Amino acid sequence: MTPKIITIKAKKAFTRTKIPGARWVINQYIGCQHACLYCYAKFMRKWYDYGDWGNWVVVKENLPELVKKEHVTGKVYMSSVSDAYQPIESKLKLTRRVLENMDTGTELSILTKSELVLRDIDIFRRFESIEVGLTINGFSESVRREIEPYAPSTERRIRALRILHENGVRTYTFVSPIIPGLVDVESIIQNTADFTDFYFFEFLNLRASGKGFREWLLHSYPKIYNFMHDEASYLGYIAGINGIITRSGVKVMDIAVHYPKIK
Ligand code: SF4
Repeated sequence: MTPKIITIKAKKAFTRTKIPGARWVINQYIGCQHACLYCYAKFMRKWYDYGDWGNWVVVKENLPELVKKEHVTGKVYMSSVSDAYQPIESKLKLTRRVLENMDTGTELSILTKSELVLRDIDIFRRFESIEVGLTINGFSESVRREIEPYAPSTERRIRALRILHENGVRTYTFVSPIIPGLVDVESIIQNTADFTDFYFFEFLNLRASGKGFREWLLHSYPKIYNFMHDEASYLGYIAGINGIITRSGVKVMDIAVHYPKIK
């Protein structure tokens, strides 16, 4: 699908963030063609009201120039409200140009769902401190087609992770969103541990996933929806997953639980 492209000029490249573990974010795009139904970044439509999430992308065309003049210390997270390697990037090469112009001393963390990230391995090698993550949730293809309609398959993401690792890039696997019955955390760890340096785990944020996703879950998987709203059962599930993660022995940076609040 061809997205509506809105070209703008940004005032600055880096913005302070409260994302755990990062001090700055850089978003050369706002909006994402991957169009994940649960995307937490959909809140951006409040300021950029161009229609359904996935149908438009705001392009900050001057970011390659801005990034030349700005130097920040502390971890920079690339693309909190988009995917830096969404399909339009293969044509615009905006992410690549931003990276080419960025201070290679920047402590950079990039997360994507796309194997297009492999194109930039040559630039990643120039950075002193860089980590590149792939979001892997292992949804079945039928589920993925419904809720991540334009994102690459799990197999393609795992392959990208492996190739990054083989090329000496520090890698992480972001297991998210963890949804009972739809995501097999144990199997994801088994399939990625050989080429993952560390992991982030995140249970589904029901509130941030939005009304459309909650309605999809209720309609398509009412048992899962009801299970997640039974606090005692769901807390038991979370404890079970935490046990699987601990027993696996992998290096874990964070396990995010948004609901119920763990006291
Ligand atoms: S890939 Fe990430 S930013 Fe893009 S729609 Fe999916 S969750 Fe949102």
